[in-house]
Amino acid sequence: MNTVFIDNRWVESHSADVIPMLNPSDGTVIRDISRGNSQDIDDAVKSARNAYENTWSKVSAMERGRLLHKLSQKLLEHHEELALLESADCGKPLTQAKSDATAVARYFEFYAGACDKLHGETIPYSDGFAVLTWREPHGVTGHIVPWNYPLQIFGRCVAAALAAGNTCVVKPGEDACLSILRVVELAKEVGLPAGVLNLVTGYGHEAGDALVKHPDVDHISFTGSPTVGTLVTKAAADNHTPVTLELGGKSPQVVFADADFNEVVPTVLKAIIQNTGQTCSAGSRLLIERPVYEKVLGLIAEAFNKTRVGPASMDLECGPLIRKTQQERVQKYIQSALDDGLKIAGQGQVVPEAAAEGFFQAPTVFRDVPPDHKLAREEIFGPVLVAIPFDSEDEAVEIANGTDFGLVASVWTKDGARQLRLARRIRAGQVYINNYGAGGGIELPFGGIKASGHGREKGFEALYGFTVLKTVAIKYQG
Ligand code: NAD
Repeated sequence: MNTVFIDNRWVESHSADVIPMLNPSDGTVIRDISRGNSQDIDDAVKSARNAYENTWSKVSAMERGRLLHKLSQKLLEHHEELALLESADCGKPLTQAKSDATAVARYFEFYAGACDKLHGETIPYSDGFAVLTWREPHGVTGHIVPWNYPLQIFGRCVAAALAAGNTCVVKPGEDACLSILRVVELAKEVGLPAGVLNLVTGYGHEAGDALVKHPDVDHISFTGSPTVGTLVTKAAADNHTPVTLELGGKSPQVVFADADFNEVVPTVLKAIIQNTGQTCSAGSRLLIERPVYEKVLGLIAEAFNKTRVGPASMDLECGPLIRKTQQERVQKYIQSALDDGLKIAGQGQVVPEAAAEGFFQAPTVFRDVPPDHKLAREEIFGPVLVAIPFDSEDEAVEIANGTDFGLVASVWTKDGARQLRLARRIRAGQVYINNYGAGGGIELPFGGIKASGHGREKGFEALYGFTVLKTVAIKYQG
């Protein structure tokens, strides 16, 4: 049946059309999902509004926490099943999918514990006044989720929104979302009241656009590309709906001569090949101090040469890219760099077992890439690393800050003063010293500046983002 999840039930969509979900490892159709439309979104928003006014707002913070904790436990029980679903439509090697399935449970665990610890302040004011602040939920929140980390990004925004007392309408990515379709069922099983969590699958320009423009949605959390982020912001502005944007990146890793190369090499490799480079916070630029440039690049190239790419079921270092057009896009970047005379320093292998119909791409590291070349400036969203030499700390900072993005950065050096100087000077939402977190743990606030977006997810910051502060001034004298 062609269904969407509203009021804790799979109900028939107003649209007769479906979207095929492909297995990126071989291009076959796994199953169809509903191509939900604006009427489905309207039904979902009505259900979320009703639940917000009549049910969820009457559930105490302590009870909300207990329900979310039950859900986190349920997700752990179903961890294997969720990982298999995530692996199938994203093309993720099972080890990575399992780690994502654990992470979604952890999101609900973290925010379960936070529900009854979210409080306001009292403020000293004029004599005879008591002034206090309340953190109130927005009400109905819309969540637009991409295909690259369905479980993690769903958990990141929905767990925090529910914990803060909001109800949710989710529009997942049309290329991969099977795991999320299962999570909403599990939420119902643990007793989340009807209407608190609704889900409409469909295309961005249809269901997504309808959600952003809906006049009864009080907040939008969007994770996706900068281009669509701009469209979403403009569309939401007509209703003055606040928007949190988690967008792309071109994150630098800056390696100084005194760094521990044994730590640098595996970390740099993982930061770009994880999820086949389809990670907003992928470490896609490698800046190396000139005296150790050849040495570090040689070690990185060697590590690239050893990486294997194959179907998700083989559980190698890399799976396929999400779809044919993404594969073509990455290939185009590589070809145009070669046409411009840039040189490949190292490249992995697609294993012979990989089907020709799968969307595979070998991880590739380019050397001596000019910082202003498009390979070094644009988000490729594939396993392509650019290596750039630098001669001074100032030059490293200039290159690191020299793109439109500002999501994550890392600095590799044993010099403590330099660590702090660079952490200050690099413009990014997160800076890692002698490690790289690709977003890091759930406790760590995460988000960007410039074209990487604004607002923060994760940690307590996300809870603040999913609330509105109300100031209450009480005159009790005079
Ligand atoms: P996308 O922008 O094409 O799509 C993201 C979501 O937006 C999908 O659900 C899509 O259906 C929806 N959408 C598309 N057009 C829309 C519209 N007009 N109105 C409303 N919704 C619309 O991005 P993508 O290709 O799915 O994901 C890749 C991008 O996401 C990359 O740029 C990546 O860096 C970014 N991303 C960012 C983060 C982060 O946390 N910063 C995390 C993951 C991905």
